This record gives sequence, C-alpha cells and structure tokens, in this order.
Amino acid sequence: MHIIGTAGHVDHGKSTLIAALTGTHPDRLKEEIAREMTIDLGFADLTLPNGEQIGIIDVPGHRDFIGNMLSGIGGIDAVLLVIAADEGVSPQTREHLAILDLLEIRRGIVVLTKIDLAPDPEWLDLVEMEARELVAPTTLADAPVVRVSARTGSGLAELQVALERILADIPPKRDLGRPRLPADRVFSLSGFGTVVTGTLLDGSFSVGDEVICLPEEKHGRVRGLQNHKHKLQSINPGYRTAINISGVDKSEIARGTVVAHPGDYQPTTLLDARLRLLPDAPLPLKHFHEVKLYSGAAEVSARVRLLGREALPPGETAFIQLRCEQPVVVERGDHFILRLPSPAATLGGGIILDPHPSRAYRRQDETIIARLQQLLDGSASDLLAQALESLGISTRAQLQTRVSLPEATFSAHLDQLIADGEIIVLQGDSASTKTVLIHKRQWEKLTNEVLEKLAEFHQQQPLKPGLKRDVLRSWLGLPQTHFDLLVSRLAAEGSIRLEAAFVALSTHHVRLTDQQQALATPILEQFAAQLFAPPTASEIEGALGADILEGLVGSGQLKQVSDQILFTPAAFDQMRDWVLETITNQGSLTLAQLRDHFGTSRKYAAAFLEYLDQQGITLRKGDIRTLRRVK
Ligand code: GDP
Repeated sequence: MHIIGTAGHVDHGKSTLIAALTGTHPDRLKEEIAREMTIDLGFADLTLPNGEQIGIIDVPGHRDFIGNMLSGIGGIDAVLLVIAADEGVSPQTREHLAILDLLEIRRGIVVLTKIDLAPDPEWLDLVEMEARELVAPTTLADAPVVRVSARTGSGLAELQVALERILADIPPKRDLGRPRLPADRVFSLSGFGTVVTGTLLDGSFSVGDEVICLPEEKHGRVRGLQNHKHKLQSINPGYRTAINISGVDKSEIARGTVVAHPGDYQPTTLLDARLRLLPDAPLPLKHFHEVKLYSGAAEVSARVRLLGREALPPGETAFIQLRCEQPVVVERGDHFILRLPSPAATLGGGIILDPHPSRAYRRQDETIIARLQQLLDGSASDLLAQALESLGISTRAQLQTRVSLPEATFSAHLDQLIADGEIIVLQGDSASTKTVLIHKRQWEKLTNEVLEKLAEFHQQQPLKPGLKRDVLRSWLGLPQTHFDLLVSRLAAEGSIRLEAAFVALSTHHVRLTDQQQALATPILEQFAAQLFAPPTASEIEGALGADILEGLVGSGQLKQVSDQILFTPAAFDQMRDWVLETITNQGSLTLAQLRDHFGTSRKYAAAFLEYLDQQGITLRKGDIRTLRRVK
C-alpha cells in the first residue's frame, strides 16, 4: 500500500481535499480515537480508479507538519503540495516545499485547490506558473500540476489519475531484517494498553515479538498489530503500523521513541552528517550553534559542530557533527531537518552519514572530511570497507548493523571484498554472522606492530625466548579473543612462534655470546657429571646470573622442568624413555622407583614426574603414575 502525505499553507484546503477525495474527513478520524481503536490518526484511505488502495496522511497545522512529515517519511511515497488558487504561493508553501526538498521526496503533485474561488483562467495560469517556478529547483521539479475544487468536485478525477501515474513503478521498501517503528503517536486504550503508531521501516514485526522502546530502553512484547484497521499477524516495511505493546506503560515512552527488536539499534548522541542550509535560512550557521534536530519522529536539542569551517552561509553545504542533548535512534541515510529553537524557523537539513562516529573529531582534520565525503558518495563496497576499518576487528553481524545494507547486497559485496583480499576472515566462514573480520589495512598495521615490537624486544633481550603474551596483548590494546585470533593467524602464516606463555619471531633463536658460553662451561660440565642430580636454578643464577640461565634454557642447552630443577636434554630424554617403557611393561610406576633407578633424590624425581603430568604424558593417582590415554 502506498502512502501519500499532504503539505501546504494553513487553510489552503488540505483537509477538505482529502475529505472530497476519500469521503472521510481527517479531523473526524481524530475524534474517533477517543472512543474506539481507530488507530490510523489523520489517516484516510482511497481506492484509485485502477483499484489500488492508498493511504493519505493529512498534516494539519503548521507546527505538526515537520514532526508528522518526518515521522512518516520512510513510508511516504509521494506528496500533495496544496496551493489555494485564490491566494497563490504563501509562506508555508515555501517552507514545506523546502523541507520536502531537504527530505528528498521525489514524487508529488502540485494541487491548485479552490479553483471555484478563482474563476479567471489567466489568474489560474499565473498561479500555476508561480508554482512551477517554485518547484523547479527542487526534488519536485517534475511534479504535475492539477487544478481542483473540493467544493464542486472539478478536477478530482484528474487528480486520481495523476496519483496513479506517480505511484506506478515505486520500488519495494527496503528490508534490512531490522524493523524499526519511529512513533508518531503513543497512546493507551482501555482494554488494550499502550499503542504506538508510525510507518514501519527496514523490517517486519510479528505478534509475539519481543521489542524494546529506544532510547528509553523499555522492554515489551507485541500483543497486537494493525494496519489501517485490519488486524494482522505480521506486518512489512512501508506500512502504516499500530503496535499494541504489553509490558510498557504509555507514561514511559513518548512520541519519537523507536520500537525495535532488542539489540538491533543503539541510541546515539553523536552523529556525522551532511547539512545543506536553505538559501533563505535566517542566519549563517556558526560553529556550536544550538538547534532542534528532527529525525524519524524524534525532536531533540543539539549543537552543530561545523567540520572544516567556522560558519556556514545560507544556501551552502557542509559536513557536520551533531551533539544531541538526548539520545536518538537513527540510521545511516536517514534524513533530518534542523530548525532554530526560537523564533522557530527551518535552517536546513540533510542526511545522516554515520550514526556512531568513533569520537568527537578535531574540526579541521582533513582525513575526517575525506572520510565523510567518501561516505556520502561512496559505493556499497567503499562503505563496507570503511565501516570495517572504523569498527576494527568485528563480527559479520556487527559490520552489517553498521552499514545498514540489505542482506543480499551486503553478502555480495562482502564476498567480493574477501575474494579481492580487501577484507580478511580471521575466524569462521564468511556466511556466518559470528565470522570475525578485519580490514586488510588494519591487518597489515597490526602485523607490522607485532613484528616490530617483537624484533625490538629480541634485540633488547636476546637471551629471552620471547615476549610474554599478556605484555604484547596489552601493548596492542586488544581484547583477549581478538589477540588470540591475531597471533594464531600470524603463527599459522609462519612469521611468529607461539608458546604457552610467550610469543617470538620465528627467526629468533636464543644464542649465548662466546664469552657467555665460556662462562657457562663449568656449570655445563657439572650437569654432565651429575646427570640426574645437577645444580639447581638458584645455584646457576648465583654463579652466572639470571640472564645466562635464561639463555641456557632458551638455546635448548638445558631443559627446565620446574622453578628450580633443570636437566640436560640427554638426561631428560633418558628419564622420559625409561618412565614410558617401565609403565608400559609393568602398568604403573612410583616416584621411589624412578628415584632409585637413577640414583637421584626425591626432589629431582618429583619435579620430573610433575612435569610429565603437566605435559599430559603421565597421570598421577596418589603415589602411582600411569600413562594418560591418548584419545
Ligand atoms: P487546511 O488547513 O489546509 O486543511 O484547510 P481546510 O481544508 O481546513 O480548508 C480551509 C477552508 O477553505 C475551509 O473553510 C474550507 O471549507 C475551505 N475550502 C477548502 N477547499 C475549498 C474549495 O475547493 N473551494 C472553496 N470554496 N473552499 C474550500
């Protein structure tokens, strides 16, 4: 079902026109609400000559215009710009048209009403010419002009045909699988509870769905759904929708709230946007000017941070960052209008480029402006790549939420970017929502950081086997899961070596200098002489220092089995082989048997067996060791 909005100067005949077209006076609908569940407020339906049913949202007074217009904007397919033939173009005709233009409403009809009051054809031609000149520089430049009288019925048939024509070939509404309903009205009805109405965007709701009202964060459930007085089990994007919500009280939410599925949308107070100031805006906009922001059905106070300039003269455009006083729920590509708080006047408007900028930018930062320019005119691929870069390592689901592209478009571009090597899959297969992704540039940056950091560490600490994992992780500032993915991929690629506690460049090998090696010779001789009862760590450290001890272990000349106990690799292998063979032959082994066989002490035997336990080779039960079964 297509939805038409009305616009135009007060008293130019909008409501009367709708009543004449549909047989329903929009004001009567409003009174009905008090008595029964007539939920489509100010909403009348019309069956066109071709049989198509359309809905018309009437926008009554001046004040309500912007809110109503914006609240239904995602669902309004076309507009009737009503101009009374006897009065001609009037101030609100201009203001409403300016807003329609800013909102990029491209389909519409200019309706000259009350032609019975202006019977002079030349006068009518003049008014029509004025109207055409007015719309010429706007999105409604191609709108047909139709002359009608609601009183006599003249021209109404032509208007219906014109409506049929402009509504033909409208593409289906965007479906991102993430429904949101910006509430243009919130009320309660006895026996029903809270009802929220609006035009449904970006996805479908079904009865029983768990929902959340944002930014209030009130949880509820869809108890009933209506479109145009019809009860439905589920409802698709683009439809006028009334949701009966259980679990949320009317007093807890207000017009402007957005009903969504939990987790789909995050309220924000910082927005990056493109702003166009109207040519007749009442003032040049200064940095940090206070404005009213209208987007969706929300209306909040905000400050404008002008990026890259100090002031914006009427008629010009700029990138801005909006800092809102209350959180709003908006999406990339949403339109907005800025007005002065008082005296109320429309300043301009534009589109949201990023509802979740990473931070408040330095205003003169040229890379930021370049980024916003790319967001403005970039392709879906650019957009996706850029969003991933600004998110950092993230899941497919997080990326999709950020870019707001329909699933099919999103996967097609993502697959292509992965195939081109622009985006790297760190974990999972590309179709799963949990797949972890990283942008190539960021991968390269992180890789370089890791490799450089390790190279530096090895140079400073050549006797250490590697850098502690935790030290590297906190230096990179990555969460544990991301860090683990990063280093395991680097290890798989062969550039680093990953040990239980540390990370090293795969090219790094601990090597003592000749001098250090000479110093260590007497100790190594002792190790060879007393294979199974050699010096302890403290003894080596006392004689040679901690560095050389570490170097002896790191270079593989000694094998450390506990804090204090080390063996030569030959002694270690001999003990291990004997343990394996003995358990295999006799089923188990005690510590005393090992001690006695090698003529060592309990201290050495215990440390050695505990090491084998830790390595998952043996299994201890009381005094007895068996072999751990390999699964
Ligand atoms: P709105 O504020 O734009 O909705 O204007 P209304 O529909 O309330 O109309 C304002 C006044 O103009 C009312 O008194 C209507 O009766 C009158 N009016 C509306 N359309 C026509 C028309 O086609 N011919 C004449 N003569 N009067 C009209």
